Amino acid sequence: MDTRALADQWAQIRRRVDAACRAAGRDPAEVNILPVSKTFGPDVIRAGVALGMRRFGENKVQEIRDKAGPLADCGIDWVMIGHLQTNKAKDIARLASEVQSLDRLELAEALDRRLQHEGRAIDVLVQVKTSPEPSKYGLPPEQLPGFLNALRSYDTLRVGGLMTLAILSTEPAEIRGCFRLLCELRDQAAAQDHDLPKLSMGMSSDFPIAIAEGATEVRIGTAIFGKRPYPDSYYWPEPRV
Ligand SMILES: *Cc1c(COP(=O)(O)O)cnc(C)c1O
Repeated sequence: MDTRALADQWAQIRRRVDAACRAAGRDPAEVNILPVSKTFGPDVIRAGVALGMRRFGENKVQEIRDKAGPLADCGIDWVMIGHLQTNKAKDIARLASEVQSLDRLELAEALDRRLQHEGRAIDVLVQVKTSPEPSKYGLPPEQLPGFLNALRSYDTLRVGGLMTLAILSTEPAEIRGCFRLLCELRDQAAAQDHDLPKLSMGMSSDFPIAIAEGATEVRIGTAIFGKRPYPDSYYWPEPRV
């Protein structure tokens, strides 16, 4: 991909995010863009770094492993946004600065053990399942209060908020419902003394809705880097429908 096109798309997505913020009566400074670089190689990511990107979202551990070495000089913060198998916790503890897909206690325990070993702590978001689609990962909403309480005992996991993927739908109201639920869960948690300022929700196709519903971070792949060479069913271990 050429650097000029990347620069244009990067500038354009920031403008679109800013416009969505203004339309929602929000300050654009409240909404981060997390570039999602899955399937794109080190050269593209390096070009992104030259444009000021520093955090990159990936959804496979193997891709972070493959890219972290060649890009070691770039000071990148790798953000794991995909389903994370417990037996891959070791690599993530070593390589990632943040995990947005924490959705079960077994994984929290494995990460904590490995992070203690590495002498590090990382930022985490709890991924919540906000849509009825059977194939989606994420914690069922009703389990969130207990899960947040349990996470208090892991010093290596800095719990900063919630993450979700909206339902794959052409119906904006259904998508909005997922984002609204995440925001409500955040507010309910606040009432129980869990401070969760971050809401990671919204992707290339639905970020304006997410911003209207309170997203503080949108995860953008296609609109920055262009179309991926494989269908999304390849990245989500099970089909999203
Ligand atoms: C791929 C991916 C994104 C970005 O999707 P785009 O539609 O390309 O912007 C966001 N979140 C997760 C979890 C992803 O896997």
